Order: sequence, then structure tokens, then C-alpha cells
Amino acid sequence: MSNALTWPDLPAAQQPTWPDVLAYQRVQETLRTLPPLVFAGECDQLTERLGQAAKGEGFVLMGGDCAETFVANTADSIRARLKTVLQMAIVLTYAASLPVVKIGRLAGQYGKPRSNGDETVEGLSLPSYRGDAVNGIEFTPESRRHDPDRLLRAYNASSAALNLVRAFTQGGYADLRQVHAWNQDFVTETEAGRRYETMAADIDRALQFMKACGADPEEFKRVEFYAGHEALLLDYEKPLTRIDSRTGLPYDVSAHFLWVGERTRELGGAHIDFAARIRNPIGVKLGPKTRAADAVALVERLDPDAIPGRLTLITRMGAAQVRDVLPDLVTKVEAAGHPVLWVCDPMHGNTREAASGHKTRSFGDVLDEVRGFFEVHAALGTHAGGVHVELTGDDVTECTGGTQGVIESEIGDRYETACDPRLNRAQALELSFLVAEMLQTRH
Ligand code: PEP
Ligand code: MN
Repeated sequence: MSNALTWPDLPAAQQPTWPDVLAYQRVQETLRTLPPLVFAGECDQLTERLGQAAKGEGFVLMGGDCAETFVANTADSIRARLKTVLQMAIVLTYAASLPVVKIGRLAGQYGKPRSNGDETVEGLSLPSYRGDAVNGIEFTPESRRHDPDRLLRAYNASSAALNLVRAFTQGGYADLRQVHAWNQDFVTETEAGRRYETMAADIDRALQFMKACGADPEEFKRVEFYAGHEALLLDYEKPLTRIDSRTGLPYDVSAHFLWVGERTRELGGAHIDFAARIRNPIGVKLGPKTRAADAVALVERLDPDAIPGRLTLITRMGAAQVRDVLPDLVTKVEAAGHPVLWVCDPMHGNTREAASGHKTRSFGDVLDEVRGFFEVHAALGTHAGGVHVELTGDDVTECTGGTQGVIESEIGDRYETACDPRLNRAQALELSFLVAEMLQTRH
């Protein structure tokens, strides 16, 4: 792999302003020489899997933190997130008898777009927190300074996280015979945990039956698990983009899957140009104000060759609007003849402020947006292809509701996110059972 790449000078929204130019250049040089975190062949494999899902022959589950942090990049935290996604995936696979493509929102989710460049607290204005790859969350001038060395820390943290994820998913931990073990600390405490236990017992019985018949397939011992994040910080993604020696094509080797966010998806901007050039499977987030003509233009630009699995459209309309605004978008994009994969992000259109001042989301709204997404696709004869959720493996109290419901007054008890509110493990698992029911009756 080489990286003899040049990039056009286009406007790029939401980029850091590094005050120390020499340090910035040094970091760019270093990033250009560091080993890839993923292989081009793995990215192609994911494109193929996503292409199957786009045809309705699979379902995609993307999940993880809104913003990863260096302090939370621990074995316990990574294992808890991985376990949550694996449990959700098993629920979906078992209920719908469909392959579930698993993409962790991890090992690179270190940059955040912000509505305001500055944050003001008691009369003091400082640059907003833009993710651990740019500055610190602590509200001091030193911490909020944009520090390019953080790009290297993000690379190292991502490398360590991905190494652990690969060990967990290939080294026996994700073996199907472990479905019970993933639930051990959890089973009796929640309704979703108990429901999972019943399902796990069924799966165990089926596995024992197969074994007794002499079948013990290798596929059960390992799990295919991919990593994805928002391609926001071009000073991170560009130096990690390499020419694959096998095909001569550029791949962003920082992750398997990269998406462009709602705030940086201008057609003439640097992010869309970047996404158009790399050969990874890519996504674009589309909010409720998206004009269908713009969505069609994005699709033509990002997937000119109409490759199945190449492009995922991640819609995040909000529960109140999804049924009104999604149909026109889906109809016009489908009419353009591109095999896009439709994924629902039921988080970002449903953010609200709690009485306590915390940013929160209601489980009921999240669920309702997913329901609306399935309804719209069923009505149009297209495929509801997946969900993209912000979650954590811990018992945080950031989103309200769910059977074991966090109530409004409890939001402050364990509010730990560095950015947006995440579903806790019980809420995530409950959501997977409800999505599984929708999948069973999917078009
Ligand atoms: C995000 O995924 O955290 C995000 C910022 O989403 P969006 O681009 O949809 O606003
Ligand atoms: Mn977010």
C-alpha cells in the first residue's frame, strides 16, 4: 500500500484550526507512515455483505458511542459495547433468520461536528469540544486548544481497540456457545435480560441437537465484525488513505466503513469529494430537511457505478417527521436506479433537552422512528435495511424510558456521555427485541 495521493482544495466544514503548524505537519507525516488498521479486502467483503442487505437478504446493525474517549478506551468498556452489539445481533438473527452485518461505531469515532464553534460558561468563551482527536472535554483554555498530537493518540487508541475487538471476535469469546455467558451479569436484573436468557436456552438446545447429529461448523466459533466512524476529520482520514497494491485503488484504512455526517455533506464540499474517492463502503446521514433532488445528486456522485453495498443512506428524520418526509426521498432515490442500502438512525432526530438541562432522548421516540422507517419501506416495497444506534454497554441514565425505564428525574444519576445520550444496555437489548418483531413481518 502506498499513499501518493493528492486532494483538491475544497471547502471543508467543521475542521479544527491547529495553532501549531509545525506540529500539525509532523503529525501528518507520521500518520502517512503508520500501518493500516484495516485491509482493503475486508472493506470489499463488507461492501458485499451490505449489498446483500440492500437486496433484503440481510440486516445491518451499527452501534456504539456517540463520541469515544481515550479514558473510556479500556478493555472493560470495549468488551461491554461489543457484548451489547453481539447480543442485539443474536436477537435479530434468531428472530428473523437473516444474516446480521455487525458494524461497531468504535475504533475511530473520535471527532465531533458542533453547532457552535465556541462554548460560553459564566462569561468565559472557549472553543467547543470537538472530540478527543481534537481537544479535551475539560473546560479550560489548555484543554480546549486544538492539539494535532491528539490525532496520533486517536490512531493508537483505535489500533488498540480494534486489536481487542479482533481478539474477542476471532478468539472464542464470540463463539455461539457463549450466548449465555454474554448475559451472565445481566440476566435476572431486567426484562430484556430475562427474555434474552429464554432465547439463549433455545439456541443452546438447537446447537446441542446439531452437535449430536455430527455438525459443529467453524462459522459458529467466530463473528465477522466491522468498525466504522464518521469521516469528519480529514486531517486524520486523508493521511490514512492508501493505494491498495492489489487493485491500485484508494482505501481509507482507518476503518472498514466511513460515513459523512448531516452537517458536512454539501455536494461541493471536501467530505463528499473524499467519500467519492475512497473505495470503502460509505454512508451519508440524511436529516429531515434533505431535499430529494440533493439526495439523488449525492447518490449519483457517490455511487456512479451503482455497486450494491457501496452506499448506505442513513436517515435520521425524527419520530414526528419520518412518516412524512421519508417516502419522497426513498421514492426519488429508488427511481434513480441505485442499489442503496437504507438504514435508520433513530437517535439524532430525537434529541431533546430534559428539565435538568441534559440532552436526552426518549426510548419511545427512538422506537417510533424505527417503526415509521419500517412502515414507509413496507408501503413503498423497499427494504428497511438496518439500524444505526448510539449505545453503551454500561447502565447509564442518558436516555429515558424502556421497560426498566430511566425516569426524567434520574437522568443526572449516571450521565457519562462525552456528547450525545446513548441507550444503556437494557434499552439497547429491548430495542433489538422490538426491531426483531418488525423484521419478522418485513416486506
Ligand atoms: C453522529 O452520528 O453523532 C452525528 C453527529 O450525526 P448526524 O451527522 O446525523 O447529525
Ligand atoms: Mn451523536
